[in-house]
Amino acid sequence: MNLLAEAIKRVFSKPSTRKYPKEKPEIPKGFRGRVEWNKDTCIFCMLCAVNCPTNAITINKEEKTWSIDIGKCIFCGRCHDVCPTKPKSVNNSERYELAEYGKEKFNLSFNK
Ligand code: SF4
Ligand code: SF4
Repeated sequence: MNLLAEAIKRVFSKPSTRKYPKEKPEIPKGFRGRVEWNKDTCIFCMLCAVNCPTNAITINKEEKTWSIDIGKCIFCGRCHDVCPTKPKSVNNSERYELAEYGKEKFNLSFNK
């Protein structure tokens, strides 16, 4: 096919790209987005923090705080896998729009 024919074909075909951010993508099953913590079920066993390969999670048992540095998280899902509670107290949500102004905004701390 010559170039002109290809160009004409493309003008009338469906675009391969999406009009993001106006048009949001469909989130696939098992997608690992921003990690979220459930204070109601967490038993502060530390397994998520100990098993996180990037040390993104910090826990203070005495003060009952659970913190995460989203800037360090690689969205591997290990924290979710090792969490022993039912339901799991740490989950990868469907949130993927994580850009912030200032890296301090990636440090999130939660209290029980
Ligand atoms: S998803 Fe992986 S990198 Fe992110 S907090 Fe959990 S264990 Fe750490
Ligand atoms: S592994 Fe689960 S229960 Fe244990 S501290 Fe982490 S979130 Fe809490």
